[in-house]
Amino acid sequence: MGDETKTKYHGMSDFFARKNPSCSLAHVNQSEVNTNGLCLSDLSERDKSWDKHRGNSDKVADYYRGIEEFEKYAERIDFCSQLLDFCLVVEEQEYKLKLSMARFCRVRHCPVCQYRRSFMWKARVYKILPSVVEAYPGHRWLFLTLTVRNCQITELRNTLRWMNESWQRLVRRKKFPAIGWIRSTEVTRGKNGSAHPHFHSLLLVKPFYFSGKSYMKQKEWVEMWRSCLRIDYAPVVDIRAIKRGHSPNELIPEILKYTVKESDLVADSEWFLELTRQMYKMRAVATGGVLKQYLKQLEQEPEDLIGRDETKTEDEISEGHLIFNWKSEDRKYKLLD
Ligand SMILES: [Zn+2]
Repeated sequence: MGDETKTKYHGMSDFFARKNPSCSLAHVNQSEVNTNGLCLSDLSERDKSWDKHRGNSDKVADYYRGIEEFEKYAERIDFCSQLLDFCLVVEEQEYKLKLSMARFCRVRHCPVCQYRRSFMWKARVYKILPSVVEAYPGHRWLFLTLTVRNCQITELRNTLRWMNESWQRLVRRKKFPAIGWIRSTEVTRGKNGSAHPHFHSLLLVKPFYFSGKSYMKQKEWVEMWRSCLRIDYAPVVDIRAIKRGHSPNELIPEILKYTVKESDLVADSEWFLELTRQMYKMRAVATGGVLKQYLKQLEQEPEDLIGRDETKTEDEISEGHLIFNWKSEDRKYKLLD
C-alpha cells in the first residue's frame, strides 16, 4: 500500500471510529474496518435529511407509476439520487462529508430535487445580496404575503393565472411603493382537499418609506390587492417590515424554498397528480424593478444541483470518497461495500 493510500485509509477508519464506537479501529486498514450497514445518517448529522427526501421521492414516484401521462416521471425519479458520492474532507480538524457527485432527475415535484434546488438558491442569494445592499444603502425591505380564497385543485391553474394578472396590475399602480421585488408562488393543501395558492414577496423600498407619503398601512394593502383582483371580499394580506439595517438573508431562501411543501406533496395521490397537471410549466418565481438584474437568475432552475460550497475547496484535505446507496426497503442511504 502506497503512503498516500495508507493515509487515506487511516483517515477513514479514524472517521468511522469516532462516528461509530462499535468499530474502534482507529489505525488499521480500511479492509479491517467493519463498515457493514453504516448509514449516511449515522455518519453525518447535516446529511440526515437525505433519507426523508429520498423516501418521499419513492412515494411520489409510486403516485406517478402506472399512469400513462406520468410514467416517464416515475422512471426518472426512480433513478434520481440513487448513489451519493461524498468526498471525505478534513476541515478545521473535523471530518466532514461533502457531496461530490450524484445524478438528479429534475422532475419538478421530486422532493429530492426540490431540496437541492432550494439549497442552491440559498447559496446564490448569499452571493448576490451583498451587492444589492451596497447598491441601495439605507433602503428597507418589506415582506408581503397576498392570498385569495381557497379554490378546487382542478381550478388551480386558472386561479394562478388570475393572481398573476392581478399582481401585474398591483406593481403598475402609482401607489405601489417598491422599487424592486421578488415574488414566489406557494400552494398549500386545504384540509378538505382544496388548494390555497398565495404569493410571498420581498419588496425593496426607499430609505424613508416609513416616514414618507408613500407609506401604506395594512388596510391599504388589503384594499389595493382587492381592487387588483377585482373581487368584492377583503383578501387576507400580511405585510411586515424587516428591521432597519437588516438584509433579507434568511427570508429570500425561505420564500424560494418550495412551491408545495413536502408534507403536502405526499399527503394524497389524487391531489398530487392534479397539482402536477395544474402547475405544468407555470412559473413559480418572478422578479421585477431594480432587483430584476440581480435576482433574475433565481427565476430559472439552477443548472448545478450539487453545489460548489459542498464540493471540495483547495485548502481542504481530501481523504477519499464514500459512496452511499439508497435502500428503499430500509428508507436509508447505506454505505456501498
Ligand atoms: Zn429528483
